[in-house]
Amino acid sequence: MQKLTVVEARKAESAGKSARLQGWVRTRRDSKGGFSFLELNDGSSLAGMQVIADAKLENYESEIKHLGAGASVTVEGEVKASPAQGQATELHADKVIVHGLADPETYPLQKKRHSFEFLRTLAHLRPRTNTFGAVARVRNCVCRSIHNFFQEDGFLYVHPPIITASDCEGAGEMFKVTTLDLAKVPKANGAVDYTQDFFDRPSYLTVSGQLEAEIFACALGKVYTFGPTFRAENSNTSRHLAEFWMVEPEMAFFELTDNMDLAERFLKRIFGDVLTQCAEDMAFFDERVEKGIRETLQGVVASDFVRLPYTEAVEILTKSGHTFEFPVSWGNDLQAEHERYLTEQHFQKPVILFDYPRSIKPFYMRCNEDGRTVRAMDILVPKVGEIIGGSQREERLDVLTERMQDQKLDPETYWWYLDLRRYGTVPHSGFGLGLERAVQFVTGMANIRDVIPFPRVPGSADF
Ligand code: ATP
Ligand code: MN
Repeated sequence: MQKLTVVEARKAESAGKSARLQGWVRTRRDSKGGFSFLELNDGSSLAGMQVIADAKLENYESEIKHLGAGASVTVEGEVKASPAQGQATELHADKVIVHGLADPETYPLQKKRHSFEFLRTLAHLRPRTNTFGAVARVRNCVCRSIHNFFQEDGFLYVHPPIITASDCEGAGEMFKVTTLDLAKVPKANGAVDYTQDFFDRPSYLTVSGQLEAEIFACALGKVYTFGPTFRAENSNTSRHLAEFWMVEPEMAFFELTDNMDLAERFLKRIFGDVLTQCAEDMAFFDERVEKGIRETLQGVVASDFVRLPYTEAVEILTKSGHTFEFPVSWGNDLQAEHERYLTEQHFQKPVILFDYPRSIKPFYMRCNEDGRTVRAMDILVPKVGEIIGGSQREERLDVLTERMQDQKLDPETYWWYLDLRRYGTVPHSGFGLGLERAVQFVTGMANIRDVIPFPRVPGSADF
């Protein structure tokens, strides 16, 4: 007897096989004709397998008749062509082994549909629901697609550290890592004495692997990182997590347009793969979560992204006649409402904004000849807003050092970063894609907390 997953057993060509299926019961329906229907789900697909359990089975009265949502079983029997609609096959049970019942009085997933807010309090059970099963499969598909895209394109997967002493973009947003006893912190001259701490200096969880990726790009050409990053920003939004996964490619000999071309090709590959490889789950999201999401993705895959300098974006926004909560003016960062206006209303497709004012961007972005802007790019998509942030990096030692001084950063602590410009410097570029923002965009899930298994947000790190 062969062990089959539900997705395998549901295929028409499995009819006639004798098989063992294992999973969790979603529903049980008893028929007057002396048998019961069980819907069995094992996570291999959204759809379950219909099992027909005859009343003549020896444990029918004692166990099978007590099966309900959440119970776990092994079913052995014959896969047969099914006369019912919506399924090619069904499983006629010869044997049903019950591993664990789930008391219907207390099992929380009784109702067909619960709110996502409620399910967030059940992080240990929500993967058993249709929506969270589908999210998990799509998230897996996106990750596979990310690796495939880069591996097929000659990129090396590199692993930057998670604990770091460099505060890449400003210490305000970083989680500190320490073994000091917070109840009696050692002091020297009134300040915390970090020489007594584990790493001998203040250390943090990384907010980005970019600087380390640059080290590898400046030796190996094209590299990418893909791992967890941490931001202690206290923003309770539907698009921010304190712990999220980021993909950061970094390429030597890439200028900003090469960077944009790569990012656009990359996103289209991910969206295309999800549409073809997760067709069943995407049909579910289209029907239940966001109407038209598949068409939106197909449109994005088929069309060119808009490429728009920041300065022109400011003109469009100021002339739009739209009232924004925050005023738009050249030199200020665009707010989410501005970004969303551009991508959702004005262009109605993804927009790559580039050449931002240098005063609002980090020191490592390459300065343009105009003296006011840097070679930054953000990719904006409908509903989610910013999905990618990137730039061409400043490769000129003198300009970079000056920019660090402007931003009150100590070049001494970045000596290794400056060495990359001191010895064999090259033009190079890279970007960061937030994995969860990508999964949000493709599924249409409104809240980022519902596309990561265990969300970490201000005030909550349960499970
Ligand atoms: P935002 O303005 O939306 O806070 P950011 O400008 O801080 O984003 P970057 O520092 O450019 O973002 O990070 C690169 C990418 O990482 C973003 O484009 C986004 O996809 C993702 N990202 C950033 N912060 C978060 C977060 N707190 N939670 C989830 N994803 C994030
Ligand atoms: Mn941010």
